[in-house]
Order: sequence, then structure tokens, then C-alpha cells
Amino acid sequence: MIPNSENDRGVNNNKEGAEVTKMSNPGLASNFIQNIINEDNEKGTYGGRVHTRFPPEPNGYLHIGHAKAICVDFGIAAQYNGLCNLRFDDTNPSKEDVEYVESIKRDVNWLGFDWEDREYYASDYFEQLYRYALQLIKAGKAYVCDLSPEEIREYRGTLTEPGKESPYRNRSVEENLDLFERMKAGEYEDGTRVLRAKIDMASPNLNMRDPVLYRILRSTHHRTGDKWCIYPMYDYAHPLSDAIEGVTHSICTLEFEDHRPLYDWILAALELPNPPKQIEFARLNLTNTIMSKRKLRQLVEKGIVEGWDDPRMPTLSGLRRRGYTPEAIRDFCERIGVAKSNSVVDIALLEHCIREDLNKKVPRVMAVLRPLKVVITNYPEGEVEYVEAENNPEDPGAGTRKLPFGREIYIEQDDFLEDPPKKFFRLAPGKEVRLKHAYIIKCEDVIKNQKTGEIVELRCTYDPDTISGGPSSGRKVKGTLHWVSAKHALDARIRLYEHLLIDEDAWGEGEENDFLSQINPNSLEVLTSSKVEESLKDAAPGSRFQFLRQGYFCVDTTSGKDNSLVFNRIVSLKDTWAKINKNE
Ligand code: ATP
Ligand code: MG
Repeated sequence: MIPNSENDRGVNNNKEGAEVTKMSNPGLASNFIQNIINEDNEKGTYGGRVHTRFPPEPNGYLHIGHAKAICVDFGIAAQYNGLCNLRFDDTNPSKEDVEYVESIKRDVNWLGFDWEDREYYASDYFEQLYRYALQLIKAGKAYVCDLSPEEIREYRGTLTEPGKESPYRNRSVEENLDLFERMKAGEYEDGTRVLRAKIDMASPNLNMRDPVLYRILRSTHHRTGDKWCIYPMYDYAHPLSDAIEGVTHSICTLEFEDHRPLYDWILAALELPNPPKQIEFARLNLTNTIMSKRKLRQLVEKGIVEGWDDPRMPTLSGLRRRGYTPEAIRDFCERIGVAKSNSVVDIALLEHCIREDLNKKVPRVMAVLRPLKVVITNYPEGEVEYVEAENNPEDPGAGTRKLPFGREIYIEQDDFLEDPPKKFFRLAPGKEVRLKHAYIIKCEDVIKNQKTGEIVELRCTYDPDTISGGPSSGRKVKGTLHWVSAKHALDARIRLYEHLLIDEDAWGEGEENDFLSQINPNSLEVLTSSKVEESLKDAAPGSRFQFLRQGYFCVDTTSGKDNSLVFNRIVSLKDTWAKINKNE
């Protein structure tokens, strides 16, 4: 590991653990983490205590992968009546910011977890971490090295060749103490010296080849300002932060597995009693989804999305704005379970979870996304009647509402075909359909734009006896359409989404910038002339509905400005996950 590298954790997210399988049977993975904890509890390792932490680096917004980690960290603690800390792992000042700290707190809370008064920062321990470093130097277990970052890399060797010892490796304790103090005092340029652990340059594990513990970096820290010009590396700060907080089980993702010997070495070298233990589980990967803060940040900075909370983003703030509920996300995390080998989860499962959650919860309303005007020629001009509509057939307590019906209504453009194929049960010339909660109508005439040939209006007749309670209310026709009253409907802007990545197997993998070429150019479609029923007039941002036959929708955060009504489609009604699993 070298200082000033792109990723100061020296890990290559997503790419490790090679084997990638598509999970077809989620939720069944046995929870090996519980087994480890049960064993510790039986042996009394930590006196029966279970204390975990969720350790985000405040360098971006949390995503659905973090939700999995949050559910595991807080969930395990809760199961054992233990505690879980929120710890900001803020050891890399050049990329971190309070904006991210605030967003992370909001998201963890929103997801339904409470760290109570245990909000910690690795930066709060800088002083103590420094003293631990002095202790390591005094024990002959760390040294100041003057090799350049390039030289350190060269000296490190490879997986097949051992490394070479640094010429500075055998400095005396006094010299090391003096140099390290002067590093801290700001006497040296950035990148000119580092503090390294003295372990084993021939270790088969590259992380054990005298890893860097401290680097010189002049960068203003969002909490400690310019107090420090040396910063601890993640691999050094993390085990010690765990120990300082009394963490027992430090649960992280698989790419840290090779770092565990270093985690243990640091705690042992300082002879800390009852050291915490690191346990790794497989990170979440989702089809069609980028799952790396660094890549997500590029989408934001390049303006490919509208921001971290763009409803196409897999961030928790994006999912929230899109209309996802914390219940659905927690349910998803539970179903995927925790396992030891990497896998890719089908995004259809996440979509299934939000449908399941909203099905019982949200009211059904009518909205016409792409309107086509229908004039009911035998309906009295100027008359309005109110028909009764149930709010949610899945929830008997949800009651009913009155919908205005009149001579002019809108239906969906694609619910009419002039020349329909055989099994088209919607409207066509001479054909009948039922209007949901109202009458059966029959298409008598099609009005077109003379010049373009575009269909602009349908002329229909209605059968007055077919309303609920009427003499022919039971008359059956094949199709039922949703509609809105032209006179009463409200204008709305509706945002429809497709997955952010075109290729379902892409999931943001591969070469650094490759994912940019996988971005779906059709991920957002904005409909500007949609019509929604008038009951949605005062729908507040964040409220959710099922638009009959069209899916689940959420009022956008921008809605209400300039009297506009803006909806995001959360998901359509077509549940590919339920379908696949039924066929299996
Ligand atoms: P990214 O690669 O997206 O930037 P990270 O691992 O660098 O993620 P951290 O802020 O360090 O982000 O993550 C905090 C915790 O969340 C860590 O314990 C990490 O292992 C876990 N985590 C991050 N991504 C995932 C994921 N996709 N699935 C499960 N856990 C994750
Ligand atoms: Mg990362």
C-alpha cells in the first residue's frame, strides 16, 4: 500500500472474490456471523457483549449496498441486545466533507436505525492514534521510511516475488521517534516520508509487507482543520478505532479479508486486551446498478444525473426521492441475507419488495399518462355526476371517494387501436369497454388531424344502465380502462425511469471509465401533458399512490413549485421477480 494512492484503503472494490453467481434463492444463506458470535458468547470471549459499528467514510452519499451493511451491523447488535455505533471513518481529508456526514446521518435514520449518543469520528482519535504510533516505534515495530511512493511500490514485490526491505528499515528507535515527531510538526513535504509497520517483506500477503501507517498530507480536515499534517491510513485507524470504542465484532465486506492479518497484527503489537475481531461478508451487487461511491460521484460531477438524490441513483437519497420506503429496503436486505461469497442480486427483487410494501399501503387513483380525448356524445352537455371509487381493494378500511364523470374524459392513447389485433381487449372502432368505477362505452367514431392523420379524439356513446347499481351493472365486457374527467383533471408532469445501466450484467464493473459507456440514454422520460384526478390536488411531496394500471408513483420533491404537480414512477406493476419465481 502506498500513500497518496487513489484509494487509501488499498482495496479494489467489487473486483475481488472473483466468483460471481446470480442469486436465485436469496434469503436462505445461513448466517455465519451469528455462528461466530454464538461461539464467542459460549466461550465468554467478550463477556457476552456484542458491540458493532457502521463505519462510513464521509466521501459520498450512502447507497443500497450500504443499506445492507447498516442492516447487518445494526441488526446483529439488536438481535443480541447489543449496541451499534455510527463511526465516521474520516481519515482521508482530501475527499471528505460535512455535506456527506449530514446526508449519512439522515439516511441511516431514515432507514430506521438509531445510534443514540454513539456518533463517533475516527478523527476524534487522532491524538490517541498518534500516541499508539509512538508506542509501536518504541517497541521497534514501526519505522519512518524515506522511500518515494513509487519506490515503495517497487520494493513491495508481487504476489509471486517477495518484497525488498527498505534501506530505512533498521533506523534506531530514537531516530524514528525524532523523525516521526518532525513529520507531525510539519518539517517535511507531502509524500516525502511515511511511517511503516515493521512486519515481513517476504509475507505471502502483500498487506503485511511493511504497510504504511501514516502519511504526510497537507489537506484541511472537515473536523480537525489544519491541526494535522500527518494522517493515519485506514488499515491502521480502523482496528484501533474499534478497540477504543469497545467494539467486539467488526463486520465489513469481503475485500478486507486479506487485510484481516494486519488488523490483528496492529492490535496484538499494541498488546490491547480482548481485541475486537473482524468478520467479512459479501458486498451487495445489483444488476443494472453502479455500486461505488466514486463512480456515483462521477455521475453527479459530470451532470449525467441531476444530483446524488436523482431518482435513478441507487443512493438512499435517490431511492427515497423516487418513493422507496425504508420498510421495503429493509425487507430486501433481509431477503438477500448475508453470505461469504460474492453474488449479484437481480434488481427485480428490490422492485418486488417495494410493490409488496405499497400494495396494501397506498391508495389507488386514476391518472392518464398520455391522454386521448373521448367525447361521450349521448351524455348531456354540462352535466357532472359523481361515481363512487374504492381507495384500495387490498385494504377494506381505506374507504371510498367520489370521482367526477362528464361528457368529456381522457383515456390512455395506447388503450385505443384503430386496427386492433385479435386479442386486443381495449377500445377500438365499434368495440365496448368499461370505464373503471363508471359506465360501459362504445367507440362510434375516430377524429383525426386532417393533415397529419394523428388521432385526436374519439366519439363514443355510453350505456346509462351499466353504472354500479343500474339495471345492467353486471354486464360484462372484456376490457376495463382507467380515465379522468377532462373538465376536472389536473395537469401533471410525470417522470418515468429505466435502469441506469443498459446491460443487466454490467453492474458498474470493469475498467474505470467503462461504466460511462453503459449508461442508458433512456433512463429518464418526462411526460409533460399527463392528467391526474383532482383528488391529487394537494398531494404533498413524498406521498405515494398506485396509478391504476400504470404502477406506483411518488410526488417529487420539486412538486408544488409554480403550482406544478410532479410525480416519479417508483415501479410499474409488472412484477418480473414474482413471475420468474413462480415459473421456477
Ligand atoms: P464504495 O465502494 O461504494 O465507495 P466503501 O466500502 O468505500 O463503498 P464505506 O463508506 O467505507 O464505503 O462503507 C461503509 C461500510 O459499508 C463498510 O463496512 C463497507 O464494507 C460497507 N459497504 C460498502 N459497500 C457495500 C456493498 N455494496 N454491500 C455491502 N456493504 C457495503
Ligand atoms: Mg470505496
